[in-house]
Amino acid sequence: MRNRMQDKVVIVTGGSSGLGRATAELMIAEGARVVIVDIDSQKGNGVAAEIGAEFIRVDVGQRSEVDKLVDDVVTRFGSLDVMCNNAGAIAMVPLVDTTDAEFDRMVAVNLGGVFYGTRAAARVMTKQGHGVIVNTASNGGSSPSEGMAVYCGTKAAVVAMSKSSAIELAPKGVRVNTISPGTMLTGMVPDVEGIVDVLDKLQPVGYAAQPSEMAAGILYLASDDAAYVTGHDLVVDGGATAGRAAVG
Ligand code: NAD
Repeated sequence: MRNRMQDKVVIVTGGSSGLGRATAELMIAEGARVVIVDIDSQKGNGVAAEIGAEFIRVDVGQRSEVDKLVDDVVTRFGSLDVMCNNAGAIAMVPLVDTTDAEFDRMVAVNLGGVFYGTRAAARVMTKQGHGVIVNTASNGGSSPSEGMAVYCGTKAAVVAMSKSSAIELAPKGVRVNTISPGTMLTGMVPDVEGIVDVLDKLQPVGYAAQPSEMAAGILYLASDDAAYVTGHDLVVDGGATAGRAAVG
């Protein structure tokens, strides 16, 4: 470890599980003070105690909760250096069977949550004159899959929204980037027997990612190693969107 995040104040949403947890752990290992945020308090409190983070329960789909989170963190820690808007919700369901409730939830969490988090962080960071925002999209945003119309739509929107924010905030010392993960073995993978084997075979590299492999990308974007990188979508997907392997 190179202490790349020494004393930085970092918020990670969706931090109780999967990529959020892996990101929080990596940031802490690099010296950061981390607040993990999740809708699941029981899991969040447990993970925070285990990895040495703070936990605050927030529904990122609720604007007032996200604004309060950022205010509370700045009051308590004195600044906000990195905001990782990572919480996400998915429903894998055919278009015609997608319910209004599923649509509303994915839009509220995946798009609303990222917007509220980006806006609240940007208000603080532009006053500070520095800060980094990393938003979690998905390679499904640029390479959509069947049965995921709303999910993929929200993730494409996250990339476009983040690029637009990056242009606006660059002169004020704030960088905004996205990470677009490929298939990762987290709570989002359906609990179906044999699925890991199937997912492994679909990846050009031969296996589905562990969250820590994706967290390394978030750390890069958040750190000074990426000081000249803004408005970028970092696709980390083992080659899945590059194309398919030849058959036969
Ligand atoms: P995960 O289910 O392990 O973690 C998601 C976390 O978000 C959970 O802890 C959940 O409680 C939390 N969350 C859900 N709704 C919330 C809300 N309203 N407010 C606060 N927290 C909420 O899944 P993951 O794979 O680690 O997902 C992290 C991000 O990665 C998501 O944005 C997801 O869309 C994205 N992603 C995942 C994959 C994959 O294959 N797993 C692929 C591409 C992108």
